[in-house]
Amino acid sequence: MNYQSTRNNKTTIKSSEAIVKGLALDGGLFVPDSFPKISNDEFKLLGTKSYTETAEFVLKKYLTDFTDEEVNNCVTKAYTAEKFGGEDIAPLHKLSDNEYVLELWHGPTCAFKDMALQILPHLLTTSMKKTGVKEDVVILVATSGDTGKAALEGFRDVDGTKIIVFYPQNGVSHIQKLQMVTQEGNNVGVCAVEGNFDDAQNGVKAIFTDSDYAKLLSENNIILSSANSINWGRLVPQIVYYVRSYAKLLAEGAINGEDKINIVVPTGNFGNILAAYYAMKMGVKVNKLICASNSNNVLTDFINTGIYDRNRDFKLTVSPSMDILISSNLERFLYDVTDNDTNKINSWMKDLKENGKYEIDEETRNKIQSLMYAGCCDEESTMNCIGDTKKDYSYVVDTHTSVAVKVYNDYKEKTGDKHVTVIASTASPYKFGKSVLKALSETISEDEFVNLETLYQASELPIPKSLGELKTKPVRFTECCNPSDMKKTVSDILKIK
Ligand SMILES: *Cc1c(COP(=O)(O)O)cnc(C)c1O
Repeated sequence: MNYQSTRNNKTTIKSSEAIVKGLALDGGLFVPDSFPKISNDEFKLLGTKSYTETAEFVLKKYLTDFTDEEVNNCVTKAYTAEKFGGEDIAPLHKLSDNEYVLELWHGPTCAFKDMALQILPHLLTTSMKKTGVKEDVVILVATSGDTGKAALEGFRDVDGTKIIVFYPQNGVSHIQKLQMVTQEGNNVGVCAVEGNFDDAQNGVKAIFTDSDYAKLLSENNIILSSANSINWGRLVPQIVYYVRSYAKLLAEGAINGEDKINIVVPTGNFGNILAAYYAMKMGVKVNKLICASNSNNVLTDFINTGIYDRNRDFKLTVSPSMDILISSNLERFLYDVTDNDTNKINSWMKDLKENGKYEIDEETRNKIQSLMYAGCCDEESTMNCIGDTKKDYSYVVDTHTSVAVKVYNDYKEKTGDKHVTVIASTASPYKFGKSVLKALSETISEDEFVNLETLYQASELPIPKSLGELKTKPVRFTECCNPSDMKKTVSDILKIK
């Protein structure tokens, strides 16, 4: 199988090259030139397999230039029972006879980014070896909280890599800061930046585009890379858990081979829901993909009207990982639903860049609407739904998953649809504990560790080990730099003069 850019599909490359490059030179995203199919019999068999076996099965179909041994190596290093608190990696929690929650937050940082970022470093280093890249790779990340920590945990102690994370001094929560400054590993660096997230982000961008500095790094046998969410190596691992959920439902007899399911996804950058769509292309029988947004509802409007318009106020919400106005991975979806029409993609993306807006044709809009339902919910409904879900199902969800549950409840009411439904749960309630406690009308303490206890009493979910132990973990990183000194900080960490 080969890969092509969504903006020019005349040239093709191998999966290892797509993973090393990340983004195509023409600005497009790499996509596979076909979608491998899984037969009904294969799904039935997969239903009895472990997560790692299913991951190997799916990844082999896409990473056809990897050897079986290489895929096996990546998968077994990433998805261990130790890191994911058990063998199941991504358990399906049954809410009711036809409703399931797919818990994607059992990884080391308690959010679904771990599902991809635990394996990406291995896919990347394997790809570098295969394509003859000899340098060490240094991952630079500016983070508003979650991605930086998930990347640190993914890359820690991975041979041939180093990772440096910058976070805004006053722009992350206390717990998020503790998670980063206590980071373990012999190849990690963490530094606060005076300023906000944009200052940190701009500083990282300036380092990436500094060609003199790239030369200096290259003389020191180093290349820079990002753990960007548009890298194929981050997307392909996400297909696995949708294939596995469907296979498990089949194996358990919750559905038969003819039944379709709904998949509900709380969406930001459109990566997670795109993975569900790709699972559907592989043979998962889907009735509707349900795209749930918070009050940054640019995707809801797009799917319902055919007009993508980012010219609107950016809102800070209780589901911050979905506070996004440009959903990069949407480009991959549009490429597929237009039957790979690069002319359309180029013209829409040009409009988006120049005017922050584009409108798709009616045929494409109709096709998208036949596949997807889109809805959004505001802050009050997000909070209320956490309480309602606890009352109705004795189950506590986080603020992002709550958006999905609420949009699904609205959909159910509107349509009466009774298909078996899988709701993607993207964060542990402990990760956004304060908001969850507030939604449950519990007392909130200034001490985050008291809050963990309170939430434990309220939810009966075990406190994630990685959060509980923060209280006693030694702080390793205390440095704070000015945005203009970030390059020097990188050099110091890498011991470059
Ligand atoms: C990143 C994230 C999302 C959004 O996922 P996308 O793939 O960007 O759509 C939703 N919830 C949580 C908790 C996240 O961290």
